[in-house]
Amino acid sequence: MGSLEHYAREKLRDLEQSGLRRELVATDRFAATLARRGERELVSFCCNDYLNLSHHPEVVAAALEATRRYGAGSGASRLVTGNHPLYAELERRLAGFKGTEAALVFGAGYLANLGIIPALVGPGDLIVADELCHACLLGGARLSRSTVRVFAHNSLDHCRDLLRAERDRHRHCLLLTDGVFSMDGDRAPVAELAALAQQHSAWLLVDDAHGLGVVEGGRGSCVRDGRELAVPLQMGTLSKALGSYGGYLCAARPVIELLVSRARTLVYSTGLPPASVAAALAALRIVERDRERVSLPRRRAALFCELLGLDEPAACIVPLVLGDASLALQASRDLEQQGFLVTAIRPPTVPPGTARLRFTFTAAHGEPEVRRLAAAVRPWRERCAA
Ligand SMILES: *Cc1c(COP(=O)(O)O)cnc(C)c1O
Repeated sequence: MGSLEHYAREKLRDLEQSGLRRELVATDRFAATLARRGERELVSFCCNDYLNLSHHPEVVAAALEATRRYGAGSGASRLVTGNHPLYAELERRLAGFKGTEAALVFGAGYLANLGIIPALVGPGDLIVADELCHACLLGGARLSRSTVRVFAHNSLDHCRDLLRAERDRHRHCLLLTDGVFSMDGDRAPVAELAALAQQHSAWLLVDDAHGLGVVEGGRGSCVRDGRELAVPLQMGTLSKALGSYGGYLCAARPVIELLVSRARTLVYSTGLPPASVAAALAALRIVERDRERVSLPRRRAALFCELLGLDEPAACIVPLVLGDASLALQASRDLEQQGFLVTAIRPPTVPPGTARLRFTFTAAHGEPEVRRLAAAVRPWRERCAA
């Protein structure tokens, strides 16, 4: 009996020693930018609520109204009685926004990928993925029991080599990438990957958790110069720029219909609370009409990068790689002392030796706050430039 607790304590001690122990900290969040921890008020630069829609009056009102009308929970899987009418409206709107035939909402972005990938490919099939793909894409890939090959980050050449070497020996092939990489903030060459996928009869899945509402006027990573790219599987989350909770896939109607029958995370998991669906729907309406709001996160990120001499950001995530996990923790504590909440990102979220501060910018940050942050970060910036 005692050995389980003993095992856990030993493991925790190892994590502690390598600076990799993680702890939950109670945080009151009043907006995308305002957090309180204990007595301390902090300006947050580590929230994915890019457009501050989680606290938008229209979004909050929609969530309240849906709760009154349909209840706090959905009561069952969507295939049983959990499919309240708000789902159809949100899915219609998501598909319209992305320019696909249909859409399907899942319990979370993570659950979407764990459901989609094993429903489409299996043993005997091939998955080719960017090495920095989000954990849930790689998790879905593993669950599918397909052959998985990983290409060097954003390397079209390496991706092409893998497809040339392996594609013919497998039945189906899925190509996986993030649209905007969550810990590096750069964008995938989606148009070029789409072309490669077509040449090699592979199906491209783009996870656009950090692109929707942020890049290409809010339309996300599967658009370039205003035109929709040929990406058959456009996945994302309702939990970041849309300020709510849930995941989605936009795709052709037969693909969506297949997943309704086959995606295990949809079939065997309870539908989202009505409030989450209603909030996402209200948020999407705001993204569609409020161009000014959509442009702000990137402008704030660009100002920060300009002040510190960093490369121009592709979206609104800016990493400052410090290397050692303990150093990243120290930097994060230093910024907290100065009133800024910036979480240290450590392995295994990022590769060993690349622990970092990850700054995210939102429509709710003012220019003066960004300038103050840049001043506080400058010594750390100089340290990693040296
Ligand atoms: C956050 C994130 C997810 C998971 O989405 P949730 O809705 O939070 O479960 C998936 N992919 C990427 C790239 C993400 O950043």
